Amino acid sequence: MAATTQSPEKTKKPETHEFQAETRQLLDIVIHSLYSNKEIFLRELISNASDALDRLRYEALENQELLEDDDTLGIRLETDPEARTLTISDNGVGMSHDEVIANIGTIAKSGTRELMAQIREAKNPEATAELIGQFGVGFYSAFMVANEVELVTRRAGTEEAWRWKSSGDGAYTLEKTEIPGRGTRITLKLKAVDEDNGLGDFTDTHVLRGIVKRHSDFVAYPILTKESRQEPKKDENGDEIKKEDGEVETLTVIEDVTLNSMQPIWTRPESGVEDSEYAEFYRHISHDWTEPLDKILLHAEGRIEYRALLFLPSKAPFDLFYRDSQHGLRLYVKRVMIKERFEELLPLYLRFVKGVVDSADLPLNVSREMVQQDRHITQMRKWLTKKVLDHLALVQKTDEEKYQTFWREFGKVLKEGVSMDFDNREKILPLLYFKSSHTESGEEEAPNLTSLNQYIERMKEDQEEIYYLTGDSVAQVESSPHLEAFRDKGYEVLYLIDPVDEIMVQSVSDFEDKALKSVGKGTVDLGSEEEKKQAEEELEESKKTYEELMKKLQTLLDEWVKEVRLSQRLTKSPACLVGSEFDMSPHLERLLRQTEGADVPVQKRILELNPKHTILEKLQARFDENEDDPILADYAHLLFGHSLLAEGSELPDPSRFNQLVAQLMTSGL
Ligand code: ADP
Repeated sequence: MAATTQSPEKTKKPETHEFQAETRQLLDIVIHSLYSNKEIFLRELISNASDALDRLRYEALENQELLEDDDTLGIRLETDPEARTLTISDNGVGMSHDEVIANIGTIAKSGTRELMAQIREAKNPEATAELIGQFGVGFYSAFMVANEVELVTRRAGTEEAWRWKSSGDGAYTLEKTEIPGRGTRITLKLKAVDEDNGLGDFTDTHVLRGIVKRHSDFVAYPILTKESRQEPKKDENGDEIKKEDGEVETLTVIEDVTLNSMQPIWTRPESGVEDSEYAEFYRHISHDWTEPLDKILLHAEGRIEYRALLFLPSKAPFDLFYRDSQHGLRLYVKRVMIKERFEELLPLYLRFVKGVVDSADLPLNVSREMVQQDRHITQMRKWLTKKVLDHLALVQKTDEEKYQTFWREFGKVLKEGVSMDFDNREKILPLLYFKSSHTESGEEEAPNLTSLNQYIERMKEDQEEIYYLTGDSVAQVESSPHLEAFRDKGYEVLYLIDPVDEIMVQSVSDFEDKALKSVGKGTVDLGSEEEKKQAEEELEESKKTYEELMKKLQTLLDEWVKEVRLSQRLTKSPACLVGSEFDMSPHLERLLRQTEGADVPVQKRILELNPKHTILEKLQARFDENEDDPILADYAHLLFGHSLLAEGSELPDPSRFNQLVAQLMTSGL
C-alpha cells in the first residue's frame, strides 16, 4: 500500500507516496513503451473525464447543489506549444484526497498480481504487449507521452482541492491546493516530438482533432479546444478594410471549437458507423484494449422502448471466475447514465457481455433500489437474454470460426446457464460444445469438439441415448475402462471434463428426446436387437459359471462395494467400478471433497468384472480347488484398487495395494 510520510494537516509541504508495487511495475512497462500507437493516451484521459462527468450528472439527480453554478458539462483540451504542455480538464465529479490515493496510486483491479506474474514470464515484447493490451493501463498511459504528469482535482460538493504530481518513477507527491471549479485538470509535460516512435506534436490542435475523431468521437460531452482563425477586419459599416496593396486586412479570432460529434453511438444507424468507431466505444465502456469479437445492436419499440448496444469480447478477462469480479451493462435513462455496471440486466452466465442499455421509460430519478425492483428491468432482462442467446445461435450457424473463438473464451460460463436458467435451457443446450470420442475418418487425433446436434446426427441407428463420461481430463476419461465396449462397437461418447459439466448433467435429463446417459452408471446393452439378445444369453451363461465366486468376492469386499457383478461394458480390462443410475459420479465426489467444509459421505459403488478375462477364469479355478484360498482376498483387493486407479480415484489403503503389487511382481519373475 502507499506509505504516507507526512500528513497534510500538520504541514503545508507535499506528502510523498510510493506507488503500489504492481503499479510501479506497470508504469515501468508503460514508460519503456511497448505501444507504437502512443496517441491513445488521449482516448484514455478523455474516457476517464467522460466517466467523471457521467458520475456527476448521476449524483446531481439527487443533489442539485453539486452542480454549483456550473451545469454546462464538458471536456477541454488546452495546449502551450512553447512550454510543451497539454492539459485535459473536465468539470466532472473530481476526486477527494483518499480517492486520489486509491485510484491513481493503486491498481484496484482484481487479477493485477496474476497479470504481472504472467508479464514477467512473457518471452518477448509482443507477448507482453498483448497481455497488457487485455488489461489496459488507463491513466498511466499518460506516461507514454509525458515526462511529468500533474493532476489537480476537486471533488464536487467539497472545498478542498488536491495536486498530484509524478514523473512516473516510483513515487508521487500530493498536496492541498485551491481551485475555483470542481473537477479534474491533468497537465502533461510532453516528451519531445519523435514521429518515428509515435510521438506526434500533441500541442497541435489539428493533431488533437484527428486523434479525437479517431478514438473519442462518440463521447457524449463536448470536447472543446481553442482554435484561431483569420477573419476579415471590418469598419463600422460592416465593410472589409483593405490594405494599401489591396489585400483584405485580417484579424485573428480565437474561439472554442468542438472536436467530437457527440452523438451516442447506439442511436446512430448501423450503416453509418465504422467498425473502428464501435471498437473505440467498446474500449471506452469495457476498459478492455482489445477489439471486440462481435456486436449486437438492438432496438425495442412497443410497450417499453429501449436501445442496446452489446459486445462480445474477444478475450476472457482475468477475473471471469472471481467471486468479486465486476460485470454488468451500463444503464442509461434517456441518455443519462444511471449505473456503470448494472448486473440485473443479464443473468450471471452471460456476465461476459459488455455494453449499454438506454431506456426511454424508466424515470430519470430512479434510485438504485427502485431500479432493481422495477418490472421494466425484469422485462428488459428477459428480452436481452433471449436476444443474446439468439445472436449466439446465429453466429454459430453463420460464422463457425468466430463461434469457436467465443466458445474457447466463454464456453464454460455459458454452460452455467443450463442449470441456472430453466426457461432458456432449450436455447442454451444447442450452443454447447464438448470433446468426444469421435474422430474424423477414424484417425488417431486429438478429440474434436462436437455440439449435441452434431452428436445426434452421427448416432447409430439402434442408439437411443446420448452417452457421456465425466472426468478430470481427456487423458483420464480416454483411459477409462468404461469406454471399452462403446469404443469397440463404435458408439460415440462425450467427454465432460469441465467441473461445471457435472452440475450441468445433473439438471438435464435429455436433449431432443434423447436421454443423456453416463457410461459409468447403470447397466449397458449396446447393439441391435439380435446382438443384445445374444449378449444377454452369454451373460446368463457366465452368471451360472461364476455365481459362487461372485458371492465370495462380494463378502471379501463388503466394506468397500455394494455389489460385485459381471460386466457387459468391458472388453479389455478385467474390472471397473460403476454407479447406480442416480449415484454421484466419482468425479463429482472428488470435486465436492475439494470444496471446503463439504461433508461428502463415502458412496459404495458396484464392482463389475469382465467374464471374458483370463483373471476371472483362473480365479474360478482357484476357487474350485479351495474356497478359502487366501489368494482370493488378495486378488479382490487388487481388482478393486486397479479399478479405482483407472477412474482417477484414490485408494482407500494404498500401502496394502502396494504390498500386493510388489508380491505379484516378485512371483512373476
Ligand atoms: P480505469 O479508468 O480503467 O478505472 P484509470 O487508471 O484510467 O483506470 O483510472 C483509475 C480511476 O481514477 C478511475 O476509475 C476513476 O475513479 C479515477 N479517475 C481517473 N481520471 C479521473 C477524472 N478525470 N475524474 C475523476 N476521477 C478520475
